[in-house]
Amino acid sequence: MEKIRTLRGFRDILGEDIEKFKRIESASRRYLDLLGFTEIEIPVLESTDLFARSIGDTTDIVEKEMFTFTDLGGDSVTLRPEATAGVVRAYLQSGLHAKERISKLFTIGPMFRHERPQKGRFREFHQVDVEVFGTDDPFIDAELLWMISLLLGDLGIKRYTMEVNSVGCKLCREEFRAVLVSYFETRQDRLCEDCLRRLHRNPLRIFDCKNRQCIEVSSESPLLFDYLCAGCSGHFQGFLAHMNDFGVPVTVNKRLVRGLDYYTKTVFEITSDELGAQKAFTAGGRYDNLVEEMGGPKTPAIGFAIGMERLALLAGNEEGPRKPVCFFAYLGEKAKAYLPLMAKDFIGQGMSLRYSYEGKSLKSQMRYADGLGADFVLILGDEEIERKVIIVRNMKEKDQFELPLDPPGLAAVLKERFRKE
Ligand SMILES: [Zn+2]
Ligand SMILES: [Zn+2]
Repeated sequence: MEKIRTLRGFRDILGEDIEKFKRIESASRRYLDLLGFTEIEIPVLESTDLFARSIGDTTDIVEKEMFTFTDLGGDSVTLRPEATAGVVRAYLQSGLHAKERISKLFTIGPMFRHERPQKGRFREFHQVDVEVFGTDDPFIDAELLWMISLLLGDLGIKRYTMEVNSVGCKLCREEFRAVLVSYFETRQDRLCEDCLRRLHRNPLRIFDCKNRQCIEVSSESPLLFDYLCAGCSGHFQGFLAHMNDFGVPVTVNKRLVRGLDYYTKTVFEITSDELGAQKAFTAGGRYDNLVEEMGGPKTPAIGFAIGMERLALLAGNEEGPRKPVCFFAYLGEKAKAYLPLMAKDFIGQGMSLRYSYEGKSLKSQMRYADGLGADFVLILGDEEIERKVIIVRNMKEKDQFELPLDPPGLAAVLKERFRKE
């Protein structure tokens, strides 16, 4: 029979890959916890309207990349392509906005986009998603980037660029929109069909187009940055000053726009040349109007998402301090009877104990222990039981010694020994 395989762009995560994911997760959690963020879990499947309304129905994500289908009840549902929309929905639905002046939330999990699979890009991918509600102070914008720099440092990632820009507010965007439309109108013949459609509905989205000619046309367009109102310009200068205070270098990229409609003021992307053409592995920005547009009170907010697959490509296979692994090799039925006692003793002490289930010869058990990377092998047979001892072989030093056969105390003795080494 033909074997069933994962869908295109989907994959299993195991072995070294899952170890990297765990490192990224635990480092993220450490800094998020220190800075007062709390975790939230939101559904993977939501109403399609949620994403069409928040991300914007003229964006590439909503137009081309969502896993949308009609469920058995006839409702249009979508696998979340990003987390912000769902977190905003949860923030309002749970009434957090009425309980907390500032809410700092994060969620970690899979997202889904029907994109062409490429290096480090999958149709199911994972993100650490961070959102802050309740303040438009540029200090929080800087705090987020500083926190990311701590996390990257922790993971041993040094070569990256933090690109930042301001995409303004409704006020400055309105003025710019007219400038942009007239710029693109005179170059309509060079725009693709999608962009022609976007020209009057949402001209800013032309910047996201991946068509070569469209990229050429937009690369010479006027810059929103030059049309920022006094408020937005002051906000951005404040943000840059705080980045300077934190000692985290950033690069202003006036052409940086994010492919979602809801962004306002600060936007950023963290890129690495090691990732090839699509080099961003973290991205985010401020979205001061989204909560209100989703039916909530006026609430400034900012957030970002780290692409875990992309970050894993950059993070090395660093080995942290390891807990010792002990292996129990038993010979014969009498010795096997000690297995539950040994297991209870070691696991109770928070030490790892491995063993074979079939017993077999000492040679085969030693080979198994070696393959597991055991630090100590405890050997017990009839002779040792008679003498009330157990042999402890140090696999690194290749020597061995005996300890009294006393399972409720053995693990503690070995733990002490390992601590001294
Ligand atoms: Zn403005
Ligand atoms: Zn185009």
